Amino acid sequence: MAPVGALPAAVAVLARAADAGASVLLSAHVQPDADALGSTLALAEGLRRRGARVTATFPGPFVLPASLAWLPGADALVPAGDVPADPDLVVGLDAADLRRLGELGPVLLAAPQSLVVDHHASNPGFGAVQLVDPEAAATVALVADLLDGLGVELDAGLATLLYAGLAADTGSFRFGNTSPATHALAARLLATGIDHARISQRLFDTAPFGWLALLGTAAGRATLERDVGAGLVWTWATVGEADDHGLAGDHLEALVDVVRSAQEADVACVLKGAADGSWNVSLRSRGGTDVSAVAIALGGGGHRMAAGFTSHLDRDGTLAAIRRCLRAGAAPEQG
Ligand code: AMP
Ligand code: MN
Ligand code: MN
Repeated sequence: MAPVGALPAAVAVLARAADAGASVLLSAHVQPDADALGSTLALAEGLRRRGARVTATFPGPFVLPASLAWLPGADALVPAGDVPADPDLVVGLDAADLRRLGELGPVLLAAPQSLVVDHHASNPGFGAVQLVDPEAAATVALVADLLDGLGVELDAGLATLLYAGLAADTGSFRFGNTSPATHALAARLLATGIDHARISQRLFDTAPFGWLALLGTAAGRATLERDVGAGLVWTWATVGEADDHGLAGDHLEALVDVVRSAQEADVACVLKGAADGSWNVSLRSRGGTDVSAVAIALGGGGHRMAAGFTSHLDRDGTLAAIRRCLRAGAAPEQG
């Protein structure tokens, strides 16, 4: 749970800003996913309806994956470099730490009022008002509470945004973060008449044909190391390889969802090579290992079962660091 009083305090900050017609800047985390964008766009629309002057953004690069560009209101997102100067209130959403807000981080710290809405257990706490609840399945669940607190009625447009984040962060209601509250919220959202099957298809089951070849390359290189922790399976692919298959770099994100199936390994890892030579690393656990401990130790964050970090070492150095962490600390419970 978020600390007692966190939700009323967050609602009060937002209601005050809306009632005053204040300038509110909302930012999702860098390389936003469905939860980051769904929560940002839904709260932006709710505040707009309540009378605030709202700008929604995310840190650069200002590129939206095709799987998310269709979200209602995404066309009104503004590049971080074009946001209004001196907003009255800055809200950070789904950002596990200040660095995930990139160039918007200092803007949030400098603002007269700030609010952080997040569900990462690794969140160190930043911003003047904090609604951080590691038990929330997704940041969109917290935004649903905020919209209720603001008296904004959930229509199909808002429900589409919230459903996208909820379905994405729960692995379509498969992961352990799914609770009765998750299903209760999903039921409320479906009752607005959204086309949930179409939303899921656009989010999870739509990619150019070339994605199959990229998957083949990455799956073909998968390596199993049974002796590392409770077993490690890893592979890698780069944005250059994605480009060779006619794909944007964000198509690397779904690879880990396949790699994680290997039952011999408690931890699955995909190293995604960026254009600048750095590696964005996705870690997933089958249950026995807290991968957020590994990610935090290596400068990132996340959740027990899904975490990530960015490495400026080369591929071998990055893997060596992961092996070290898994052998040392992230000692497996029986999984
Ligand atoms: P991903 O593997 O990118 O899907 O991320 C899995 C989880 O780890 C998500 O909850 C992310 O918010 C979190 N995460 C990924 N990369 C980072 C990072 N560099 N710093 C903090 N959290 C991260
Ligand atoms: Mn996210
Ligand atoms: Mn999230």
